[in-house]
Amino acid sequence: MSTNAEQPTALVTGASRGIGLAILRALAKDGFLVHGTATTNNGSLRITKELSELDNKGSGHVYDASNASGHTDLTNTVTEVDALVCNAGITKDMLCIRMGDDAFEQVIDVNLIAPFRLAKYYLRGMLKKRRGSIVMISSVIAATGNPGQANYAASKAGLEGMVRSLAREVGSRNITVNAVAPGFVDTDMTSRSLVGDTREKLLEQIPLGRVGTTQDIAATVSFLLSAQARYITGATIPVNGGLNMA
Ligand code: NAP
Repeated sequence: MSTNAEQPTALVTGASRGIGLAILRALAKDGFLVHGTATTNNGSLRITKELSELDNKGSGHVYDASNASGHTDLTNTVTEVDALVCNAGITKDMLCIRMGDDAFEQVIDVNLIAPFRLAKYYLRGMLKKRRGSIVMISSVIAATGNPGQANYAASKAGLEGMVRSLAREVGSRNITVNAVAPGFVDTDMTSRSLVGDTREKLLEQIPLGRVGTTQDIAATVSFLLSAQARYITGATIPVNGGLNMA
């Protein structure tokens, strides 16, 4: 599958649920032919069904970001895109003194190395066309840190640094590279942590007084991929209700 000359193509990783699914829906509404990924065949089929209900000709693909062969499987199928959204991400929370190398490495593999591989691959087509956009989904935790999330914070801070470097490398070819850093959003990722007292205490720290919705994040990604945002690159846009204003 390559880029259609008339309709721009977007690829969203981790589009089977949560923030990625909201981004997939927003980009379909924006007129992109959207490809989305899931780790399972069922998830991939659900994405294809979702897209067909939105009258979109894109489809779901199985993608495991934790290793190089997952990357090759995906790029063999979706060969070129105009917009890349690296959203797939995982947590493996544990206090540093108890965290094994495996938990640190798994989070870095999925959250940082996989987006590097995808950017490297899809930039080639964008460089030839002298146009394209990349959005990496980071986190407020990159800036604030969080107990139990040394691995996650490192992966997201790394992602933001990579965004700034890539933006400098490809800006002259009219390619934008940005990050969106959500605060706390109600999804499966946060369903166990954002409850009870913890949730109440968190809400007290958010000036807008609520956790984010997946649509809040999707709206910012949609803007960054729009014609209105062609002069924005190397930025990390916070979408956190004011939780962190630095
Ligand atoms: P989620 O609900 O847990 O969904 C995660 C998505 O990533 C799913 O589509 C999942 O696919 C996919 N995924 C998981 N492991 C993968 C792997 N090894 N390879 C490829 N895909 C994989 O997460 P979310 O809350 O929507 O988070 C999306 C992004 O936003 C992540 O990068 C996360 O770090 C970031 N973020 C989230 C929050 C928050 O409060 N929720 C805050 C800040 C940043 P399957 O369905 O197949 O498992």
